[in-house]
Amino acid sequence: MTQNSQPLSLAEALSRLKGHITPLAGDIETLPIERCLGRIVAAPLKAPIDMPPFAASAMDGYAVRDEDWQADPAAAFTLVGRSLAGHPYTGAPLDRREAVRIYTGAALPPGGGRILLQEDLLTATEDQATFRPHQPTEHYVRPVGHDMQKDQLLAPPGTTLSALTLGMAAAAGIGAIPVYPLPRVGVFSTGDELVDPGIPPGQLTPGQIYDSNRLTVLSLLANLPIKLINLGRLPDDPGAVNQALAKGANKCHMLITSGGVSVGDADHITHTIRTLGQIEFWRLNLKPGKPLAYGQIDGCHIFGLPGNPVSTIVTLLMVAKPAIMQLCGGNPEPPLRVAAITTHGFTHQPGRTEYQRGILQADTQGLSVTPTGDQSSNRMTTFAAANCLVEIPGVAEDIAAGETVEVLPFAGLLQ
Ligand code: AMP
Ligand code: MG
Repeated sequence: MTQNSQPLSLAEALSRLKGHITPLAGDIETLPIERCLGRIVAAPLKAPIDMPPFAASAMDGYAVRDEDWQADPAAAFTLVGRSLAGHPYTGAPLDRREAVRIYTGAALPPGGGRILLQEDLLTATEDQATFRPHQPTEHYVRPVGHDMQKDQLLAPPGTTLSALTLGMAAAAGIGAIPVYPLPRVGVFSTGDELVDPGIPPGQLTPGQIYDSNRLTVLSLLANLPIKLINLGRLPDDPGAVNQALAKGANKCHMLITSGGVSVGDADHITHTIRTLGQIEFWRLNLKPGKPLAYGQIDGCHIFGLPGNPVSTIVTLLMVAKPAIMQLCGGNPEPPLRVAAITTHGFTHQPGRTEYQRGILQADTQGLSVTPTGDQSSNRMTTFAAANCLVEIPGVAEDIAAGETVEVLPFAGLLQ
């Protein structure tokens, strides 16, 4: 790997990472379902039973034999009992023109094959009911296994357990789920110029700025199924960087740094990774985010993200985050993309694929996107009000207002 090696396309970098990063070899834990939110399924999750396990009414009404209603919808039914959710009718199977008063979710009485809705009741006495003439479009019966069938695959390995998948598992009666272990991911920032936010501006010495990357990276990764470790800030000192990366690699499965990956005199990350382990690739054909480095030290994966805050964020979201999900056992999908019409021009020099910050809006005309001003990679304010990244292909020239671009909503990238 030389400093002159060709920058990789984003697609090539992601495909190489697929080859390098496998789920943590470690004990799969089976956790109570209440503790599984955000965790990743480690073995096929199958329905242990049919759901519902009994034929149930989908509406409040009267359960009757279907053939009785077909034979004469207008004739009276004799009421023989009630079936409520959790309190089924326990009488004999329905006989000719018998009906059971029934409520949503209650078990159908034996023989009952149709629910007549209470809205369609014409007359009712203590023990008789008639129904107005009508043409029901369905039987209002939830058959056994209507939602899921025994042994049906609910979630393959690699699925992130969201509120919805967990709800589905709970509906199937599952109380515990095998999940992948949590990798330890350590986050450093680097740079002699950095001080902690909160230090009063009056105390800044010339050349100092606030460290924003570490907080941003930690926050963007906060909901992932990892043990996230804030490893602090490194000075631009080769010895200190060497010591810290060696120590970090020893205790983490992945390290993420920002800054110090270019070719300046104070850039020590790439060299240190190469000294302690190996660099797998360095530099992407991406704007912002060109000087990204990925390598390993003793089996610990290391992403050296570029230091400019916008570059840090774009490379974290587009490259490092999918890699973390792979390490977690997940199957990261490419982020959602939608086509939108530009309301203003986007400047772009042909060369690298560029991700600009934009505001995506929907109206009766469809989707449109507006840039958030000067897109320099130091400007965190380009994220203010932005809700998407606008992808501008490497080959494109300036994009004029009214052209169609591909947009990656934050809803897909940040979740
Ligand atoms: P570097 O790649 O280390 O030269 O950093 C590129 C630019 O990003 C420089 O202007 C740095 O001051 C800035 N930068 C690096 N790290 C951070 C950080 N953690 N927070 C804010 N700005 C940073
Ligand atoms: Mg630096």
